[in-house]
Amino acid sequence: MDISNQERKTIRTFTQPFRVERGKGFALADFNPGDTLHLGSADKPRAQEALRKGVEYLAALQDKLYAQDRWAVLLVFQAMDAAGKDGAIKHVLSGVNPQGCQVTSFKAPSAEELDHDFLWRCSKALPERGRIGIFNRSYYEDVLVVRVHEALLASQKLPPRLVGKKIWKQRFEDICSFERYLARNGVLIIKFFLHVSRDEQKKRFLERLDDPDKNWKFELGDVRERAHWDAYMSAYEDAIRHTAAGHAPWYVVPADNKWFTRAVVAAAIIEGLQSLDLAYPRVDETKRAELAEARAVLTGQAKGARAPRRGG
Ligand code: AMP
Ligand code: MG
Repeated sequence: MDISNQERKTIRTFTQPFRVERGKGFALADFNPGDTLHLGSADKPRAQEALRKGVEYLAALQDKLYAQDRWAVLLVFQAMDAAGKDGAIKHVLSGVNPQGCQVTSFKAPSAEELDHDFLWRCSKALPERGRIGIFNRSYYEDVLVVRVHEALLASQKLPPRLVGKKIWKQRFEDICSFERYLARNGVLIIKFFLHVSRDEQKKRFLERLDDPDKNWKFELGDVRERAHWDAYMSAYEDAIRHTAAGHAPWYVVPADNKWFTRAVVAAAIIEGLQSLDLAYPRVDETKRAELAEARAVLTGQAKGARAPRRGG
């Protein structure tokens, strides 16, 4: 399955405006959650068709990734509640062989997790070579929710003298070092911030209340978090500023329109995979001889076998 130059260009139009690889001067205010690159709802079917093709293409790339067994891919998803993380993960990766990808959701840390450094639980879930690992939330929570609610920091059992004003800057440094280390070891890192507006979040929460099938998703705590919206936004802004890098870019994905969010996420993953030198492994002499032998055995058996009788 190949992709035309025109399609490559189209993919780029969906990724380029939202990619942040240098954090200096990054401002969330420059990104509009309602952005659809001037595509209207009339373009929605076309975008959905493009997504369907993208999903197929992604599956083909993932097959090579798995066969080649050199690179690993880490997709980090961060967002406010109801921004559409789960849906984006579900739709964009729907075509990918389940054996080749692993999704890990990070919730409030357990007692065991709190007994370790903050990267520990995420390190344990890193994808193997040949796999796509998806983090539904991640170590970034430790500079987001934990920064917004400093009581959470107190629960992390750090020795008091290590907890000072500089802790967030130090955590950014640690995250940068961690991501650089991973990149140097063959992990392609792509980070998504699904950027939903406060109004759209409210609308989606109300839908969760109105629709019995969505009631289960609703948590009162999520609504209370809205009071801290601005603190979250500045925490996100600061995190992106400090951790965007060429080898670990952020995509600030407009998230007020789900069809558009999914198209951008798919495009970014495809572009990322395309940047790797993915190819099926070449067969060497020994393997070639093995294949020839296998063919001889199979065709030999075919000769000896009786043709099935007709009619039964
Ligand atoms: P959800 O993704 O809606 O299932 O919610 C998971 C919750 O766990 C969110 O409210 C996160 O903010 C919270 N969470 C994730 N990681 C951490 C962490 N390191 N410390 C505290 N809370 C966290
Ligand atoms: Mg939630």
